Amino acid sequence: MQNNPIKNIVIVGGGTAGWMTAAALSRYLPPKDYTIKLIESDQIGTIGVGEATIPGIRDFNNKLGIDENEFMRATKATYKLGIEFIDWTKKGHAYVHPFSYFGHDLNGVPFHNYWLKQKQLGDTTNISEYSIGYTAAKLNKFSHPTSDQKSVLSKFFYAFHLDATLYANYLRKFSSKAGVERIEGKVINVSTRKSDGFIEKLTLESGQTIQGDLFIDCSGFRGLLIEQTLKTGYQDWSHWLPCDRAIAVQTVSTEDAIPYTKATAREAGWQWKIPLQSRVGNGYVYSSQYISDEQAKQTLLSNIEGEMITEPKFIPFKAGKRNKLWNRNCVAIGLSSGFLEPLESTSIHLIQTSIMKLITHFPDQAFNPVDIQDYNNQMNRQFEQVKDFLILHYKTTQRDDSPFWKYCKSMAIPKELEHRINLFIETGHIVNCEKEVFVYSNWAAVLLGQELFPKVYHPRVDCINPEQLKILLAQMKLTIAKSVSTMPSHLETINRFCKA
Ligand SMILES: Cc1cc2nc3c(=O)[nH]c(=O)nc-3n(C[C@H](O)[C@H](O)[C@H](O)COP(=O)(O)OP(=O)(O)OC[C@H]3O[C@@H](n4cnc5c(N)ncnc54)[C@H](O)[C@@H]3O)c2cc1C
Repeated sequence: MQNNPIKNIVIVGGGTAGWMTAAALSRYLPPKDYTIKLIESDQIGTIGVGEATIPGIRDFNNKLGIDENEFMRATKATYKLGIEFIDWTKKGHAYVHPFSYFGHDLNGVPFHNYWLKQKQLGDTTNISEYSIGYTAAKLNKFSHPTSDQKSVLSKFFYAFHLDATLYANYLRKFSSKAGVERIEGKVINVSTRKSDGFIEKLTLESGQTIQGDLFIDCSGFRGLLIEQTLKTGYQDWSHWLPCDRAIAVQTVSTEDAIPYTKATAREAGWQWKIPLQSRVGNGYVYSSQYISDEQAKQTLLSNIEGEMITEPKFIPFKAGKRNKLWNRNCVAIGLSSGFLEPLESTSIHLIQTSIMKLITHFPDQAFNPVDIQDYNNQMNRQFEQVKDFLILHYKTTQRDDSPFWKYCKSMAIPKELEHRINLFIETGHIVNCEKEVFVYSNWAAVLLGQELFPKVYHPRVDCINPEQLKILLAQMKLTIAKSVSTMPSHLETINRFCKA
């Protein structure tokens, strides 16, 4: 049987999602077989936030053949080894979710079980001290992981803090070189086919019409195609993730950039601090049910360092996702597909996952419904996994000093998450999540960081003689401390490889 290939791909939107999509499609679809057009409106502009990433972004850039140092220079990026959560568990408490392992498994038993046994014996060493990512981050050190798998210096991952607008510009140049046609203009009408409701063409304010076979909606929260045209519907998750607004402001750097994001819990939400080479991104993500815009603004402005270089900007949102991310001949990527607040910096990751899955499930004119269903199922799982991981941070707080935190602490949570938390508390087991967005080490970091300590450790831990265990753990800690002491500072590495 022959394929009936599609030819014309139209992307609406030139934010991070639009240009990431254009860049990846132009890399994987030969220009002799496909035309790719991207429409964006300078008049509407982009959301202008989205600066912290998780390590998967490196795979995306690598697949596109992007040189990391050039990309970092162009986006004024810094390295990111994790996120520090301040005041989440309780006021005065902090922990880091590092992009690295804690210690290493012994006899096939996950490391946190050994640490738990030591803790029960009275050892007060924080589990973070067995993490190279944590130790480097806190000492403001960074060097690229080595390829020698025997070295502890290979046992961490890293991501970036970047200027999202510059990233989109960088990918725009990349895409233009690869043959993507950029069209400046505002889409004012979308025509659909009577027979099946497929999108046929777009009309711009200038009167120009653009036809396509496959339409990719990267138009941001408005969801111009997926929602305004196709009425796909939205699953509202705000009862689990009650923050519904953010206020963002950029400031001048007052210190050397640190290699981690800071997320500080506040009365009705949390504040981000993201250090770039050129400046610092700050924002307060909050629930409008519990605090007014004016109070949020005051809170943010009284907790920033350095002179403001932009006016504070309010951004409303609703946690959730579209009922279908792919509907008929339209695929929603980026904010048009749904939004989960930036606590774990996952939006850009969800964009790259959507793109790579679209490339895998690339359609022909038949737009096979089974394939579309499979894409939607896979993307639903991705959103659900991120959603549950985010809820974990709120639900497990010990705080009850404001109505917002009281709500979070007492709210009902999804059954699957409830099971994961119970399983961990009762047995110390972490549900097998190695194929998920967040894997064992991520769950361990947040569960233990939030002070959820299992009642028991794994029975096989006792197979190691206690004295021997003590020595092994002390050695691990020492190896990490010694290895980190050989690393250059974060700034030295930036200056050496990618100074903007
Ligand atoms: C408060 C906040 C903080 C965030 N922080 C992070 C973070 O730290 N890490 C992370 O990974 N993500 C973060 N995100 C998410 C991130 O900002 C987005 O995922 C990312 O910027 C992609 O946005 P987008 O391209 O989908 O939409 P947008 O940037 O809104 O772009 C929409 C595009 O569509 C165009 N458009 C819209 N309508 C029309 C029309 N009618 N005609 C023509 N063009 C049109 C616009 O001109 C624009 O080019 C954050 C989001 C918020 C709200």
